[in-house]
Amino acid sequence: MELLDGKLASAKLKDQIKIEVDEWVSSGEKKPHLAAILVGEDGASKTYVESKVRSCNEVGFNSTLIKLSETASEDEVIQAIEQLNNDDDIDGFIVQLPLPRHIDEAKVTTLIDPKKDVDGFHPVNVGRMTLGQPAYISATPFGITQMLEMYDVDTQGKHCVVIGRSNIVGSPMSILMAKNSKYANCTVTLCHSRTQDLKSFCLSADILIVALGKAEFVTADMVKDGAVVIDVGITRVEDKSRPKGYRVTGDVNFEEVSKKCSYITPVPGGVGLMTVASLIKNTLLATKKEIYGV
Ligand code: NAD
Repeated sequence: MELLDGKLASAKLKDQIKIEVDEWVSSGEKKPHLAAILVGEDGASKTYVESKVRSCNEVGFNSTLIKLSETASEDEVIQAIEQLNNDDDIDGFIVQLPLPRHIDEAKVTTLIDPKKDVDGFHPVNVGRMTLGQPAYISATPFGITQMLEMYDVDTQGKHCVVIGRSNIVGSPMSILMAKNSKYANCTVTLCHSRTQDLKSFCLSADILIVALGKAEFVTADMVKDGAVVIDVGITRVEDKSRPKGYRVTGDVNFEEVSKKCSYITPVPGGVGLMTVASLIKNTLLATKKEIYGV
């Protein structure tokens, strides 16, 4: 078994980005600038945003964090989006999800200028990605494809099973793995909460991508010998022995499954780090206007 090491892979990706940023800025261009809107006090969301800001600093970007209270109205969130849409110094921005229940996520996501939508959640970017046109690709699926590329994982003609059909992970992942490209070209099965006999699909997977949000759901008896296993899940499980009172665990029982597979991503230290690095990469693409050309 070989570890698909997100720490190593994301550090490599960020090193490459830093070199590009240094060259870009030395040629007289402006520093890339990423902004994030954070609404409320959700602990996990705060942690994710902090790690995004930290990564901006590491690669030489400017970053701006707009914090709104848990009770901020939908109009206040929309105002913040419009402000960032109209600010020429901001190359890309994200609205950290999930939002409090009284705010319509689909509505606010659609108000982000697609050219600044570095999370790749806007329908225009999802549509362009689906059609194989230049697009910001949702950071988690983008990170996974880059990790497959870095480790030169053979995906051609393989059966890829994706568990979970969310708009931000499972669905775009299934589309990307079916593309006619070097680290894709898979026959893809997309499984979800209504899939019958999930285990039989999992057992036929050469590549198993798990994004359902249930701690250690995938066990060794669900995995084919030699499979590639990508664990997207991040769940905080109560653990009083830890200083924070919880530990972070994935959707795969790493202990068991790692003994059977050819490659596996750990949690933490896997897909999550690649997600952040890919957001940073999308922001550089936005700064250089490489997706939309304007
Ligand atoms: P979601 O809650 O939006 O979707 C979960 C999906 O799992 C649904 O499509 C549902 O149909 C499916 N599902 C639920 N129970 C199932 C079952 N028993 N069998 C088969 N399918 C089932 O989730 P999401 O936003 O895609 O996130 C999934 C997990 O990935 C969460 O733990 C989340 O925290 C994590 N996540 C991690 C990253 C990262 O960077 N590593 C990024 C995004 C999400």
